[in-house]
This record gives sequence, C-alpha cells and structure tokens, in this order.
Amino acid sequence: MTTDLHSVNISKEALFDIILAGLEAYAIKHDGQDVVAIETFAHMWGRTNKNLPFKCYVDHLTPETSAARTRGSVTASDISLELKQDIAAIFGKGFEYIGTMHSHPYLKVEQGEKGEVYEYDAKTIRKKKFYQCSDTDHKSEFTSSTVTVGKRKYSVAVILTVHAMDRARDELDGAIDEQVFEFSLGNLKMWLFAQVFEHVDSDDLTDQDVSEFGKFELDIKKFDDEFTFPIPVSTKLNCEALGTSGFLLDGFGRLKISDKDSLYTNKKQAEKRFWHKM
Ligand SMILES: [Zn+2]
Repeated sequence: MTTDLHSVNISKEALFDIILAGLEAYAIKHDGQDVVAIETFAHMWGRTNKNLPFKCYVDHLTPETSAARTRGSVTASDISLELKQDIAAIFGKGFEYIGTMHSHPYLKVEQGEKGEVYEYDAKTIRKKKFYQCSDTDHKSEFTSSTVTVGKRKYSVAVILTVHAMDRARDELDGAIDEQVFEFSLGNLKMWLFAQVFEHVDSDDLTDQDVSEFGKFELDIKKFDDEFTFPIPVSTKLNCEALGTSGFLLDGFGRLKISDKDSLYTNKKQAEKRFWHKM
C-alpha cells in the first residue's frame, strides 16, 4: 500500500449530476414505492492518472434507473454495467469507468420494518459519520476493482448524504476533513464523501493494511477465504465547484418531507433569509 494521498476530483458537471440524482430519489415518490427518500445509485466515468499516486477525475455520472432502490439499500444489475462499459469504450478517452456513487437519505423521523422509530438530525449524522461508507458499502467493494495503475488496483466510492432539516442552517458548511464536504441548499443538508480502495492480494497484506481494513467496522477475520482485500486508503476529495463553503450565497427552496410524502416550496416563495434577498 502507498501512503500518498489518493485523490478523487469531481467536476462541476459531475457534481450537478450527483446532486440531481440524489435529490430526485430523496424528494420524489417513485413508481411502485410507497415511501419517499430512497437511495440512488450511479456509475461514474472520467479519467485516471497513469502514474501513482492514484488520481481520478469524475466527469460523468449515469444513474441506474433500473436499480432496486429502497430507503436502506440499493442493488444494481451487472448486465447494465457491462452494457455501459461497452458504450463508454466506443467513446474512448475521458470515459473510463471509475466507480460508483450512491446516496444515504435520512429523514427526521423514520419508521423501521417492525414499527420502531428512528430519529435523525444533522448533528447525529455528523457525530456518527453516517455520511461515510457503511460496513455493507465496504463489503460491496470486494467485487472486482475498477481502475488499474501500473500493478496496483483500485476502486472508488462516492456517497451523497441528504437530510432535510427543519430550517436552513449553513453555518457549518465547508470541509469536515480531507474526504468529506458539508454543504446545503435551503434546508437540505448534504455531505459529499469519497473513498478510494486499494485492492491488495492476501499474500501482500501489511499490518497497516489489516488495521486500515477496519475503518468501516468490517472484521478482516471474517473474510479469510477471500484472495483480494479492498483496503480503504487515505483519500482527498477535490471539488472546485463547491469552493470553500459550498453554495452559501445561493438562495434555494424548502423541502418538507416525511416518510410517505414530500412538498417542495420553490426559492421565490420560500427564501426569506436576509442575505438572499439582497
Ligand atoms: Zn451506503
């Protein structure tokens, strides 16, 4: 494993696609679903550096409208990726497959399958780092790597966490650390998170790899029949379009959302903050 910072660079176009895909799944009720705020899943395309340290540039996103999407999970079809990869190959340079993006939708109050009630707010999401990979997300990286640089193999996961707050609060908008950026649009709070995984063969695993494997609470001992391990490596998220504080100066509407319903009031009607009326 290398100790250099691995970077994920997200273009303005890709950020636009990520927000659109994430918010559409969060705010709008989908066919055959009786709830709002479902997860979304997309493939990411762009360019990668041919030399180390690992650097990728995400320029395009293709949401998986065929994925089985629910509040707590999303499953995509393998055929769809194969089809998209062949299409991307025709377009050539700049259309390399980089990895996946999915969303983590959180409502203020959510009901579990057995009627249990969960409550979320921005503070809890920050404190418990719900914006980063879950153990299940990490597990899904065991499937083949997506980018090869020299002899090293990598995959990339980007997550957009979305939470509608009672009111707009943007005072904490900005970078939380090198791989997480917090920003808001109206009362919608979002966190953009990127993680690079280096796929290391079991024979080559170092002590540091083994310790870093546990970053998202997976126990490496439970995977002793695997040949290659996705090690979460130090990652730097770069997104110029977010600047240093996101969309702090931009007005936006307000989204009222509960388990089964949502109502969006547009910017013109909803934006009452002094700064945005100037
Ligand atoms: Zn996830």
